Amino acid sequence: MSDFQALLETWDGETAVIRRDHETGGWIFICLHSTRRGPAGGGTRMKVYASPAEGLNDAMRLSAAMSRKLAVAGLPFGGGKAVLAVPEIPSGEPRRELLLRYADLVASLGGTYCTSSDMNTDEADLDVIWERTKYVFGRSVATGGSGSPARPTAVGVFHGIRASVAHLDGSDELRGRRILVQGAGGVGSQLAEHLARAGASILVADLDQSRAQAVASRVNGEVVHPDEILHTETDVYSPCAVGGILDTDTASRIRCAVVAGSANNQLAQPEAADVLTARGILYAPDYVINAGGAIGVAGTEQLGWSEDQVNAALAAIGETLRDVYRRSAEQGISTAAAAEAIAEERLSEPGVGQ
Ligand code: NAD
Repeated sequence: MSDFQALLETWDGETAVIRRDHETGGWIFICLHSTRRGPAGGGTRMKVYASPAEGLNDAMRLSAAMSRKLAVAGLPFGGGKAVLAVPEIPSGEPRRELLLRYADLVASLGGTYCTSSDMNTDEADLDVIWERTKYVFGRSVATGGSGSPARPTAVGVFHGIRASVAHLDGSDELRGRRILVQGAGGVGSQLAEHLARAGASILVADLDQSRAQAVASRVNGEVVHPDEILHTETDVYSPCAVGGILDTDTASRIRCAVVAGSANNQLAQPEAADVLTARGILYAPDYVINAGGAIGVAGTEQLGWSEDQVNAALAAIGETLRDVYRRSAEQGISTAAAAEAIAEERLSEPGVGQ
């Protein structure tokens, strides 16, 4: 217990809910970092941790990141995150029972926390949670949800890339630009299609070569081996696979004018943002450009937005990035620092959802 206490004393969030899940021998942590702008929103992560304290720490850290992300996206939500820290990832009936116990806990919070999916949880799990509480977004189309957030995420990144190239040379025209998409998964494959339709030349890299090849064929692009990414000269490098790809070493070697993709936590070291700035490479802060999924599912399922409203909010990701870039240039700070400053301002505004 002293581990939990020590961790919580370092955290600036509002509420941490901790439940020992005797049935699995695991723990459930729900962290509400901020409800100032509205209910705390954020996914449910299911994971095996070395210790329960690591699970709590993840929920605390990720909930704070959600506050920043949702505030910069302009949504009337605060930041939250839930962690189901389990001894092993359950399946079948034990999984369903765990999800229902967790759903009852979410329901007991009376709408102050609203959940979606995260690592090791998907829309089928959200459908189970939905049986007990309406404070869920990202459930399946079959239950009236909006399904996978990959589509709106890809649309948001597309707008973000256009705003980024426009910041560099005044034109958001993509025709003739070389764009390398790393990760041909849910987001990367759809992004590649949007970019190709807008006339960009596409390069695709994926650990799974057949997946890269399939997407490259669809968009008339080329496959790049993942080991070649750092050596390949492009206008835009779009990381849509894993996080942690930019440290000070890779940031000093990457050969592109813009880094703009959906991957979460792209900066393995915060200083990598300064290295990119010093080299004149424009970095689109990940949580600003990848907010389309949250905007799409929250807008559709929780805010009752029409398709046009969702599309307008996705296009506004480009506007937000322009603000970030303007502030970064005016103040001589990295784009990551500029995004943080905007998030802090919005988080200290009076609640918009109250
Ligand atoms: P996905 O699992 O569908 O696809 C990821 C792809 O990346 C896979 O094809 C995988 O083989 C490939 N990959 C993994 N490691 C790689 C590497 N080192 N080099 C090249 N390819 C590699 O995932 P997704 O839903 O498309 O999400 C992509 C990224 O965007 C993730 O970081 C995710 O956290 C982030 N993100 C996704 C969403 C969303 O709505 N899906 C929203 C916000 C952020």
